[in-house]
Amino acid sequence: MSNNIWESVCEGLLKTVSKNEFNNWIQPLDFQGIEDGVANFVAPTNFIGTWVLRNYGEMIQRHFISEGTIIDRVAFHVDNSISRSALKSSTSSKHEIQKSVSLKVSDKSLSETQSVLPVAPLDKRFTFDSFVIGKPNELAHAASRRVAEGGPVTFNPLFLYGGVGLGKTHLMHAIAWETQRRKPGSKVIYLSAEQFMYRFVQALRFKDMLSFKELFRSVDLLMVDDVQFIAGKDSTQDEFFHTFNALVDQNKQIIISADRAPGEIDGLEDRIKSRLQSGLVVDLHPTDYELRLGILQSKAEKHAGHYPEVNMTDGVLEFLAHRISTNVRVLEGALTRLFAFASLVGREVNLDMVQECLADILRASDRKVTIDEIIRKVSDHYNLRMTDILSPRRARTVARPRQVAMFLAKTLTSKSLPEIGRRFGGRDHTTVIHAVKKIEELKSIDNQIAEDVELLRRMLEA
Ligand code: ADP
Ligand code: MG
Repeated sequence: MSNNIWESVCEGLLKTVSKNEFNNWIQPLDFQGIEDGVANFVAPTNFIGTWVLRNYGEMIQRHFISEGTIIDRVAFHVDNSISRSALKSSTSSKHEIQKSVSLKVSDKSLSETQSVLPVAPLDKRFTFDSFVIGKPNELAHAASRRVAEGGPVTFNPLFLYGGVGLGKTHLMHAIAWETQRRKPGSKVIYLSAEQFMYRFVQALRFKDMLSFKELFRSVDLLMVDDVQFIAGKDSTQDEFFHTFNALVDQNKQIIISADRAPGEIDGLEDRIKSRLQSGLVVDLHPTDYELRLGILQSKAEKHAGHYPEVNMTDGVLEFLAHRISTNVRVLEGALTRLFAFASLVGREVNLDMVQECLADILRASDRKVTIDEIIRKVSDHYNLRMTDILSPRRARTVARPRQVAMFLAKTLTSKSLPEIGRRFGGRDHTTVIHAVKKIEELKSIDNQIAEDVELLRRMLEA
């Protein structure tokens, strides 16, 4: 029976973390069952156990709870006889310590009947100072700053959306920190939609709706993270809607995040969608190379402070920024692992070491997008046949989508210009160059094109 729980928890986790993360960190765990409120796991290495505990411990616990199994904490034990770790190459077993690690969850009230404060703990690292700004996130950052300044409420709610690991939670925490710094007395509540639901269900169960309502309606700033979670959960949505309206009426700031735009969240009532759209909706775009490099540089500096003995050769960060384009969390994980490994085995971080230590991550991040897929998605999107795209026809209705497809082929695959030309009905590489330039140009002046490209990119990279 216990394995069933773990399966459901895994399903839930898969909706929260990326496939990569799941495969790298969750998959290698062996669930042993629950004893005295502790969910026990065997991790293939101590390193993985510690890592999962730090980064996913609380999340795993929450998923157990939302599956109806209350646990106080999760614990990881190391079993050296296990050899099926996908990450074996990164942590040589010589350095493993037979040790168990566990975590007392910071949110004690989870398993208590009466909640003291329903706020989720804020991460100290998630501040504006540590947030690296680039083109893909500058708008979201600017809007967040504005809200944190705490002037008159001009857009309500602020709705931040974007894929996993692009900095939504980071920005929300940064707003919370900054608000608390500027107005120490103000009441800020940050929590995930899942926690909101959990509190709500608890309140119903313990017939304590009044204090639930009072609590949420007395805040100055309410932040609800990952609101897509309440899609399809009707009574929670209802309560959320009422809370939301009550706060808007009092002119209190609300900040919401989700993994997609309000209109695209299936299972969300229309009145809520339109409420969510009524403020400012900003999108965190997938990272580009420059932003990834900037983030890596800033994080590497911090690591260098903790591991002064570790040397990193030139080119490593550039290589990572180029090769790991999934999400920032994966980038951070890669860097953490490199420094930990280098420090453990006393080696410098160079490209050879990176290949060895990050083999699994690099393999998982290999670009899977193919030119065929691009042509297929683009023709679908523009209601064309694939043969139209490949044909010599020059009518605008065909030529523009073809250019979009070439642009995507150039930016999403590692294929060369001549190769791309060949795959697009035997065209010359100069045609591809022209297409790429044209789309780049149009993206900045033509919203429709910019949206099309963005949407297609998202679909292809999903
Ligand atoms: P999301 O909530 O969008 O899934 P997070 O806010 O949890 O993503 O970000 C994932 C990780 O990446 C966090 O550790 C965060 O600090 C880091 N991160 C994301 N974007 C940036 C950025 N622009 N600068 C610095 N760190 C970032
Ligand atoms: Mg988040």
